[in-house]
Amino acid sequence: MRVWATELTEAELAQPAVVFCPHPDDEVLGCGGTLARKVAAGADVRVVFLTDGSRSHPRHLDPRSARRLRRREALASCAVLGIPACRVRFLDLPDGQLAARQAELTAAAADILRCHRPSQVFVPSRFDGVCDHVAAGAAVLAAAGAAGETTILEYPVWFWRHWPWVSERGGPLRRRLGRTRDAVIGAVRLFGRFRCAVDVRPLLDLKAAALACHASQMVRPTDRPDWPILADVAGGDFLACFTGPREHFQRYAVRTAGRRRREHR
Ligand SMILES: [Zn+2]
Repeated sequence: MRVWATELTEAELAQPAVVFCPHPDDEVLGCGGTLARKVAAGADVRVVFLTDGSRSHPRHLDPRSARRLRRREALASCAVLGIPACRVRFLDLPDGQLAARQAELTAAAADILRCHRPSQVFVPSRFDGVCDHVAAGAAVLAAAGAAGETTILEYPVWFWRHWPWVSERGGPLRRRLGRTRDAVIGAVRLFGRFRCAVDVRPLLDLKAAALACHASQMVRPTDRPDWPILADVAGGDFLACFTGPREHFQRYAVRTAGRRRREHR
């Protein structure tokens, strides 16, 4: 990927951006190092959290408490990345329901993009395979033309959840063959699509500090052994995917509402 990918230039890092995140923590997992580099380069970076994140622990937290907690965590994480609360917005749509709120989400995204007219728009990858992430990407793309010509940067989060990015040990032959097929498809997608990269090596500690702000997703309370955390996913392999030297993006430009103009490296 080091040879294959094209790095964002300093001039591109300095461009204004709006980052759409389905849930608190996506801003760090998907592009935390990149956002910190953009802030350091002097870019105006706005983060929009689409859902309230209230369903991350439905058996342990009532929706109201979860919403409040995750909002606090999101603001703390953005502050670590260098993004003040005045540049963070919460749409508070219901967690897990973005697919059912497409029209509302598209209208809200269009308003935000018309207001800020960013050069870059960060959205979750279409390959994430998680309802809220796929719906968020589709809605923002549909709205993107409202800002005039802009560059879309799709960031993968749950894309990394599958083998071969995480290990799946053993299993029957059929399953192993399925994993081989997934590996080929995954590699084609990675090399063919996520060809834009940002070197985040100097920012890995900062990224870890921002991620630690999402304590509800990172730390299991000692009295709640069944409290799920991100480190549970694929035995910790998933979380390790976000400590690499580069963050990868699928980059392309849009000019008219939702229509992709050209994909470029
Ligand atoms: Zn998410």
